[in-house]
Amino acid sequence: MFIKEIRFECYQNTQYAAVERAINNYFDMLRYNGQILGREFPVAMFASWFVVRLVCPEENSLHDKFNSQQVKQALDGLTAAGLLAPKIKTIGEDLNSLECASHFKPSWQLLYTTFLDTCSPLRCGETLAPIPLYRTAEAISNGDRKSVIKWQEEWINCDELQMNGSAVSSVALQELGDVDSRLYHRGSELCKRIEGITHVPTYYYLYRVAGKSLQEEQQRKCPCCGGEWKLDSPLFDIFDFKCDSCQLVSNLSWDFKK
Ligand SMILES: [Zn+2]
Repeated sequence: MFIKEIRFECYQNTQYAAVERAINNYFDMLRYNGQILGREFPVAMFASWFVVRLVCPEENSLHDKFNSQQVKQALDGLTAAGLLAPKIKTIGEDLNSLECASHFKPSWQLLYTTFLDTCSPLRCGETLAPIPLYRTAEAISNGDRKSVIKWQEEWINCDELQMNGSAVSSVALQELGDVDSRLYHRGSELCKRIEGITHVPTYYYLYRVAGKSLQEEQQRKCPCCGGEWKLDSPLFDIFDFKCDSCQLVSNLSWDFKK
């Protein structure tokens, strides 16, 4: 991942409120297209310019060719608010984030995230490295990739709720690990759509915790088809189960995993 600096300069007298709205809208649209990562973007204010640092999946993530229709409109919005086209420079690689996949056409891929992640939840099945969402040949829904970002946000929210042992942790756990849940339903629809536009088999990750015993957990069957899905050895030390007909992966219950 790369740290970029963006500078916005005013070309005319303008209102702070209009500038703030236009800049934040631009960030939102970039985020919903997977071109920038994270959720908080502090903007430093100067006399007639503004500066922000952002994290992007690749050095060229902000190239025009990746812009969604919504990002293009947001750029028009910057002009309307009295700002020149943003000036972008690379600061350097980010020490704290994962490197992107080295290629975007793996033999399989999966939708997978954790509560710590800010990177793309679309992961290469060969390396688990993130694949930037804007790299899909077409938008995923409604012109950009927002539906995947929203799915990821909800997944992370559920994960935090269940880890904190909150009052709604059992509901959150069902969302993460149950094939009858709304989150699974949305995620598996996204997998189908992504597979349709990338032509790469796209799996869904089902979270698993609790259970009665190690033995019972090891014998767990695919919750969709009831078939055998245990792997001989875990993939990436995370996935112990993989069903190729249902395109699902899962872990041995975290309560029993060494
Ligand atoms: Zn299955």
